[in-house]
Amino acid sequence: MTEQTSVQSTPFPSASILGYPRIGRRRELKKAVEAYWAGKIDAAALDTAAKEIQLGTAKRLQGLGLTEAAAVPGTFSFYDQVLDAAAHVGAVPARFGNLLNAEGQLDIDGYFTLARGNKEQQPLEMTKWFDTNYHYLVPEIGPETNFALTSNRIVEEFEYALANGVETRPYIVGPVTVLLLSKASDDAPAGFSPLSRLEDVLPVYTALLEKLAAAGASWVQLDEPALVVDQDTPEQEIQAAVARAYEVLTAAATRPQLFVSTPYGALNGQLGTLAATNIDALHIDVFKGEVPSAAALAALGAKTLVAGVVDGHNIWRNDLQASAKKIAELQKSVAKLAISTSTSTQHVPHDVEEEVQLSEQLRSWLAFADQKAVEVVTLAGLLTDAAAVQPAVDEATRVIASRAAAEGVKRADVRARTAALTPADFNRSEYAVREAAQEEALHLPPLPTTTIGSFPQTSEIRSARARNNKGDLTDEQYEQLMKDEIKRVVDLQEELGYDVLVHGEPERNDMVQYFAENLEGFDVTVHGWVQSYGSRCTRPSILWGDVTRSAPITVKWAEYAQSLTNKPMKGMLTGPVTILAWSFVRDDQPLGETANQVGLALRDEIADLEAAGIKIIQVDEPALRELLPLRKADQSAYLDWSVNSFRLATAGAADATQIHTHLCYSEFGVIIDAIDGLDADVTSIEAARSRMEVVHDLESHGFGRGVGPGVYDIHSPRVPGEQEVTELLSTAVKHVPSRQLWVNPDCGLKTRGYAETEASLRNLVTATKTVRAELLEAAK
Ligand code: GLN
Ligand code: ZN
Repeated sequence: MTEQTSVQSTPFPSASILGYPRIGRRRELKKAVEAYWAGKIDAAALDTAAKEIQLGTAKRLQGLGLTEAAAVPGTFSFYDQVLDAAAHVGAVPARFGNLLNAEGQLDIDGYFTLARGNKEQQPLEMTKWFDTNYHYLVPEIGPETNFALTSNRIVEEFEYALANGVETRPYIVGPVTVLLLSKASDDAPAGFSPLSRLEDVLPVYTALLEKLAAAGASWVQLDEPALVVDQDTPEQEIQAAVARAYEVLTAAATRPQLFVSTPYGALNGQLGTLAATNIDALHIDVFKGEVPSAAALAALGAKTLVAGVVDGHNIWRNDLQASAKKIAELQKSVAKLAISTSTSTQHVPHDVEEEVQLSEQLRSWLAFADQKAVEVVTLAGLLTDAAAVQPAVDEATRVIASRAAAEGVKRADVRARTAALTPADFNRSEYAVREAAQEEALHLPPLPTTTIGSFPQTSEIRSARARNNKGDLTDEQYEQLMKDEIKRVVDLQEELGYDVLVHGEPERNDMVQYFAENLEGFDVTVHGWVQSYGSRCTRPSILWGDVTRSAPITVKWAEYAQSLTNKPMKGMLTGPVTILAWSFVRDDQPLGETANQVGLALRDEIADLEAAGIKIIQVDEPALRELLPLRKADQSAYLDWSVNSFRLATAGAADATQIHTHLCYSEFGVIIDAIDGLDADVTSIEAARSRMEVVHDLESHGFGRGVGPGVYDIHSPRVPGEQEVTELLSTAVKHVPSRQLWVNPDCGLKTRGYAETEASLRNLVTATKTVRAELLEAAK
């Protein structure tokens, strides 16, 4: 006899959420973790802070109605959930040496070392989690990785909550997803696939499950979002891995019931694979995905289907009536049904009620994590007593209808303008014509030097903004301080010998929020922080209505900066796709329509910048890659609207106006056609860390316009040497015609300090001079 029979009697909670924000309502975790890193608090104090957050969350979710056993997910993390999984199974790269302590465990310091690196070692690579703005750490796995249960944290967290009266549902990223998201370690042979280590990692998961069963967990959540994405690994290979993984895990001698979650999209082919295993509950995303066919659902048999009907990724109030329809549909075909969110709510802020500065109307349209928990509870009520929840359903229907009719949501002036657009509005003249006009207007030297826009945001700048917001500095005083800063940045660039200058963006708190605050159709939050990675949070703006520009936004700053120099001053704007990607965007119309509205607002701004004498305008699109849909079939439609919105923003510019764009990543090959389609005159991209690999893509694609592959990695405090930059540039000129080449850092400098920035920027100019001289010599 095993304990399995006794735990299996607990039904899956009828109302649950896949995960909850862990940073804390007032970013308590951020503060505690950063204090620990700075040596201001010790490990015990950090642990206490973490426990307070965990228990606070558990009690709050219970209070909101998640009262059944295992309804509260144990999704706390000190840094990242993928790192947590790696830390539990012993996926510690050999290059770190032995990070395990005497007990064979990865303690909190070892854990943070993987996340943040140390003096000698780079941390694990970081990359975006599915189609979100959250970043996870990429485990490194090789043939030698020694899998073992190297952490007990998930078990301890469960025990702590249980001792305090809450039976949580332990969470860990599942084995197939962990391996699919991992990369081969440095010492692995060519062609090695981490998935080939599945057999070796499964016993560690089994051991963990046995421990959790012994601790009293009735359900465990294994998160397998990688199954909703088109992977490079062949589909059959993934199916085999899923079947094998859950065959092994469900065969554990003692185990909690297994709940597999598959957020971020439709499960497609893997639904049948999972249905054929012995897992006890399966989550599918029916918010983004469709309700599967009756036949597909019937295959689930006695398993509980956990329907993700409430969107965990965006902030709009759920259309309970539409959700009720899906639930009714599902009820026809499944034996046991439970209600949940489509994804973890880690992507949304905690609580709408905190945003007292927002209008009551706007607040009524929104649901943050706490409101989503309540929505799930309401919808679960449909399973038992539909009449009792009908008033809540009706209220949601009423609010959603009032949202559609509310002032500002659909503006006739904006709609008339987008309706009148013709293909000509998206096209500029031939590049050759523009190139000639720009040469005439700008007279730039070969290999022109420039920067990406921002200069270091010093504490003086931040504190001036804070004092201005509080009313301790008048707007005039604040403006003067910003002008002083702009002058300092312009003088510095003159002194260093840059060819195309920037004003440094001191007046911008954030490259998206700044525009959101100055456009109609947006609102911003005060406490709406969401975790981006580790202790870093962003505060996305809310794009709820039709977007227009009521007055120029950047013109006075650009004009002032241009008045300080005879060199060309770049006007600096954030592009439509990035404004959408880093905001919470209205869900009541296609994204492409919203993007065109933003595009038109930027088009007006560009016209005003031109009228003010600005000859070069950069429209940043660092998020172009990020919004790329997970399924290949959806990608071309996305690339169409995203590229078009950029073209709409920029195509009104005169031939002689040079349009730049900037993208923040180096996986250029994937979307090079789209980047080409933007039709910018000059494109700057990241390249320093990948040692100029991108120039091969540019060469084979025959990229024909200006391009600035970054030669200074601004994500690190390291100063690139003059020699190093010279070598990078020499590599670049071998593959890209020198008349197309620009010299610039990888990204904006706002997170850097002045000392390293100045030294680095100086080396860029000296290296450029060397390479220019070589080019002259070679031309003789
Ligand atoms: N112009 C912005 C800056 O320099 C671009 C930042 C970005 O690409 N993320 O900060
Ligand atoms: Zn960038």
